[in-house]
Amino acid sequence: MNDSKTIIEADSSDNTDTGVDSGVNADTGVGNSSNTDAGADYRANVDTRTNDKINITGIYVNRTDIKGAAYAVSSYVARKCSSGSGGSSGSRSGGSGCSSGSRSGNGSIHACGGAYASVSSSSSARFPAMVCTPNAEIMMEAQNDKLLHDILNAADLVIADGAGVVLASKILGHKNLERVPGFDLVKELLTNPARYPFSFFFLGGKPGVAESAAAKIAESSPNTKISGCRDGYFSELQESDIIEQVNKSGTDILLVALGAPRQEKWIFKNRSRLNVTVCIGVGGSLDVLAGSASLAPAFFRNNGLEWLYRLYKEPRRLRRMLRLPKYILFAFYWRLFRQGKQE
Ligand code: UDP
Repeated sequence: MNDSKTIIEADSSDNTDTGVDSGVNADTGVGNSSNTDAGADYRANVDTRTNDKINITGIYVNRTDIKGAAYAVSSYVARKCSSGSGGSSGSRSGGSGCSSGSRSGNGSIHACGGAYASVSSSSSARFPAMVCTPNAEIMMEAQNDKLLHDILNAADLVIADGAGVVLASKILGHKNLERVPGFDLVKELLTNPARYPFSFFFLGGKPGVAESAAAKIAESSPNTKISGCRDGYFSELQESDIIEQVNKSGTDILLVALGAPRQEKWIFKNRSRLNVTVCIGVGGSLDVLAGSASLAPAFFRNNGLEWLYRLYKEPRRLRRMLRLPKYILFAFYWRLFRQGKQE
């Protein structure tokens, strides 16, 4: 599937609980013209790859790498800067990458009155771009959670966060899908302010974690602009205040670390109210940046065994992790009985 403007027809049945209509636009928008120099040095190489979405068990994942994904994020910010068609209400106050205007991309989800609503094409310009970082657990969960499934397929950029997703892609006969850990994407964006001159808001983690992460970044990368922080333990009643805080900060990129799939659903539900250019669901990345959690040692990371290390550190995740082998079996099932029939 090499078409950069592929329209995925989501199953329109059984939508009443989620309110998500069919017709999910999976365009990454990366190929659109963008006026940024950020990433210009490798733009020529990454455009084609990042535009290439492949169907992995019904979820469309971008074939890209860290730099390609970071460039895609840059292009979303640039796109919003250059469109200037005034889609967002709310005031922006000095995000460094972009200051006003609306997104002119295609990923599109309309929210009405805070509820989930229809998914269609170009009129979504006013909403932030959405980046999802699913691992095998989430890919499996999405098979039983239609809202999550549709959100992933409506996202502008979907990167393969885990080795399980890459393995599933191989089972399905796709070559060269690279693993792109969400943490690596976040690090790439946060630690290269000259290349990605954007401002970031950290939302999520236990109280104090976002601030510690911001302090660590300020130490190691003093030119990176963190425009605000907020912990991830809040009630629905507090959401409006949080959104106001984010909007007032004038941030370009909102990193949402509420754990999957809560963060994806939170972004999806609130994206019409968020006056940012990009929202990225980043799981436990703030904990790692803050130093309250550690990455798996290189051996585990390089051999696709991060899950094993995480299980060792957090045995309570066992039940959740059983989705991983289940997902691999599901990929075989998909290959045998579904592939080709729905693509
Ligand atoms: N988290 C949060 N609010 C919540 C639940 C979780 O901010 O209500 C945070 C939690 O503190 C952690 C992050 O979400 O920093 C990611 O959690 P987890 O590692 O379980 O998610 P995953 O990486 O598997 O998506």
